[in-house]
Amino acid sequence: MRIGYGYDAHRLRAGRECVLCGVLVPCDFGPDGHSDADVPVHALMDALLGALALGDIGKWFPDSDEKWRMADSVKLLRVVYSAVVECGYTLGNADITIVLQSPRLSGHIEQMRQVLADAMESDIGRISIKATTEEKMCFTGDGTGIAAIAVVLLE
Ligand code: MG
Repeated sequence: MRIGYGYDAHRLRAGRECVLCGVLVPCDFGPDGHSDADVPVHALMDALLGALALGDIGKWFPDSDEKWRMADSVKLLRVVYSAVVECGYTLGNADITIVLQSPRLSGHIEQMRQVLADAMESDIGRISIKATTEEKMCFTGDGTGIAAIAVVLLE
């Protein structure tokens, strides 16, 4: 078994689409970035890569490369997960925490879990997504940004 940990944070910007775990969350702001800036998926990919010491998403999908502009991060996740399978591993489980002051994500969590399960050809029961706030503290609390943490176990 191998364990992996990933972290990501992005600035929030007015008018950007808010795509989290492949789900469009209705909101008048969203994470800014070169790709679709799907912060929890970025953290998840880094956890998968980290578990097998395969580098990080900056190495796999450099933001200096125009090819990845507005890239669908769930498609990138499929690429990363293919590498995991090629190394002889499958997902044991993933546990993701999204840190965001607003909007509330509870109504979207099940769909997010299904999107990630589909992308990793896994069972929804192996994928946990939690949302929390930092009680109006720090950059997530004042609406400057969004963060996500992911832990994975590969078997
Ligand atoms: Mg990122």
